Amino acid sequence: MLDRLGVAHRYVRRPGDLDGLAGIILPGGESTTHLKVMTEEGLFGALQQFAANGGAFFGTCAGAILLAREVHGPAQASLGLLDISIRRNAYGRQLASDVHTGATKLRPEPLEMVFIRAPIIESVGEGIEVLAEEGGHAVLVRQGRILAATFHPELSDDPAVHEHFLKLAAQ
Ligand code: GLN
Repeated sequence: MLDRLGVAHRYVRRPGDLDGLAGIILPGGESTTHLKVMTEEGLFGALQQFAANGGAFFGTCAGAILLAREVHGPAQASLGLLDISIRRNAYGRQLASDVHTGATKLRPEPLEMVFIRAPIIESVGEGIEVLAEEGGHAVLVRQGRILAATFHPELSDDPAVHEHFLKLAAQ
């Protein structure tokens, strides 16, 4: 998606890879594995420092779990950068996508949202802007320069959510 949008990007595997970046995308996958790698590579603290320095974040699915203030189902460590409480593996199977189409605050037209064993945002703090809801739960949220989706916008053709993140990262 970033290639399509013509944006320079690189993989971040070690703290030094963050140098000079305006923002970072924490992808979907398995948040427990992400946590293990982040801890082993010293990225846990480096990402908190990146946020403190004003770096932008976009977490999708497992990435949203990593950003949350509080994680349930089961409880696990998180960066605590986004004032939401989230419950893992709330719906959808690991190998099946659950595709919804719904309204967002990004634009008048609806957006396709692909959920894969997605978490549910259980509650949001006062500083959170809810950009989309689905099935009675916030699914796209923003707090300052931190954006999180419980779905996978990179699996749809529609670049709207990434475009929104790029605007936040450029601010
Ligand atoms: N179930 C995964 C987790 O708890 C998230 C799934 C995903 O990112 N698609 O980390």
